[in-house]
Order: sequence, then structure tokens, then C-alpha cells
Amino acid sequence: MTRPVIPGIHHVTAISGPAQANVDFYTGTLRQRLVKKTVNFDAPDTYHLYYGDDVGTPGTILTFFPFADAAPGRAGPGMASAFAYAVPKGGFQAWTDRLAQNAEDYEGPYERFGQRLITLWDADGAPVELVETDRAGDAPLDGFHSVTLWERDPDPTARLLTEVFGYRAQGQETDRGIERLRLVAPGSERGNIIDVIRTDTPATARPGAGTIHHVALRARSDMEQRDWQELLAAHGHPTTPVIDRQYFNAIYFREPGGVLFEIATDPPGFAVDEPVATLGQALKLPPKYEAMRERITQILPPLKVV
Ligand code: ZN
Repeated sequence: MTRPVIPGIHHVTAISGPAQANVDFYTGTLRQRLVKKTVNFDAPDTYHLYYGDDVGTPGTILTFFPFADAAPGRAGPGMASAFAYAVPKGGFQAWTDRLAQNAEDYEGPYERFGQRLITLWDADGAPVELVETDRAGDAPLDGFHSVTLWERDPDPTARLLTEVFGYRAQGQETDRGIERLRLVAPGSERGNIIDVIRTDTPATARPGAGTIHHVALRARSDMEQRDWQELLAAHGHPTTPVIDRQYFNAIYFREPGGVLFEIATDPPGFAVDEPVATLGQALKLPPKYEAMRERITQILPPLKVV
């Protein structure tokens, strides 16, 4: 078996409060496209919203389970604590200008591993980092730059990422008492960075609005996904069976620090059940829920996309 290569993050999934405020922030303030409006496949009375670039390219996808009455969560050890978008070369100043003009709060710019970044907060207070990169691009944001995992002990997580997934350690920085280890996937594709932070806080993570549920890495094909499944099992990290998520196939496992990881396939993608031109406009349901469409439509709040 040839060992596949992880190109980077496929998507990040988080929990939010009311859906409309989430849509307003990610399509308005962050200028992402709502590329899929569907339901939680395990609980069809809630939305599952997908944001991405114009066509929903893997590596640009941020997804939410919005709950109108979600209690606020709190990131902590054993949880992914932040995600960062890449700002294309030359676009950083335009972002800070625009946020200032619109009276949006942000922190920074400050520097991390030689790159400038700012942090802003979505409608539920989840931190959203925008990192200046050297990559050319026409869109305001070029998908993910990185994701941050918060661990009590970063070593076993770093070992998994380097020994099984082929990431290499780029270095370590300490900022305001927080140790940050940077791991980089081979190749230079979107979202090829995972940062692991350590703090000795006694606080524990609490899932809820504004927290990240899981991080999905990319497999280019079903065959690569099967290879990962075998490799992970051989290294003592058994995964779930392959689960059909309509737009990709998924396997899940917990990394040693407790963060839920997924490996998601690039195919078939978001244009599998609607044209690219109208992605995200209609409520799409997996075949098993089509018979319940009328009831589901009555329960879900209507959404307006700017
Ligand atoms: Zn996922």
C-alpha cells in the first residue's frame, strides 16, 4: 500500500446559535458563499449550513449546526479552539480597512510565525483568524490557512500528525504564555497547517455555540480514505466505518488529545445535487428525508442570504 498524502483541511464544523446571525456573519462580514443548505443528517430538525468559495472547493469549507437556543460553549483542552482563513497576497490592508469602516471589532494585527494576522469574532463569539499569506488569489479569502488544536499534552497529537499523516514540525513559538507548535502537511495546498497549543489551565472544554465540533482532513479519493483507515487502525486509532455524507464520504476518530477528527473525500462535491450557479439556495435533503420535506420545512426557520 502506498501511503497517501494529506493535502490539508477539507472542512471545519462548528456549533452556532440562531442560523440567521450565522449566515449574516459568514456571507456578509466574511464574504463567503453559502454553498449548501441542508439538515443535520443525524437530526433533521436542525440545519447544516456549509460556507465556502464560489464552488465549495475542499479546503474552503466551514460548516455549522445552528441551534436557536444553544448555550454558549467554551473552548478548552481536547478541542479545536480556532480556525484561520488565508488572506491572499495584497489583500490584508483592505480587510482591516473594511472591518474598521463597518465598526467590526478585531484584535491585531499581530505576528505569528512571521505572518501578520487579525482575530475577529463571529455572532457566537467564536474566534476567526485572518492570516496574511503570499498566495495570489482574486477572492477576499482563499480558504483555510490553519486550524488550532488545544491540548493538555501536545506530544501524542504531534506524533500522530508527523508519524502517520506525514506532517513536519515547523517550529514553536510562545505568545502571551501560550506555547504553540506548528505542524505543516507536505505540499503547499490550502489549510496545510495545524497548530497545537498547550496551556496548563484547569478549565475544561464545554461544547456549545461558538465552539468547533470537529476538523476534517482531505482524502483525494475513496481509495485514499481506505488506505488511511487501514493505516490508522494499524497505529492504534480505529475509525468509524465509511459514512455517506452526500457531498463526501467520511470516517471519524478521536486523536490522542480528544479532538474529533474526520477524513473526508474530495468527491463527489457540492454540485452533486444542484447546479453550481444556484448552490445553497434551495433546501437540499438526503434521499432518506425527502418524504419528510414538508414537515422539516415547517420546523426550520426561513433564512435570508445577503
Ligand atoms: Zn465533518
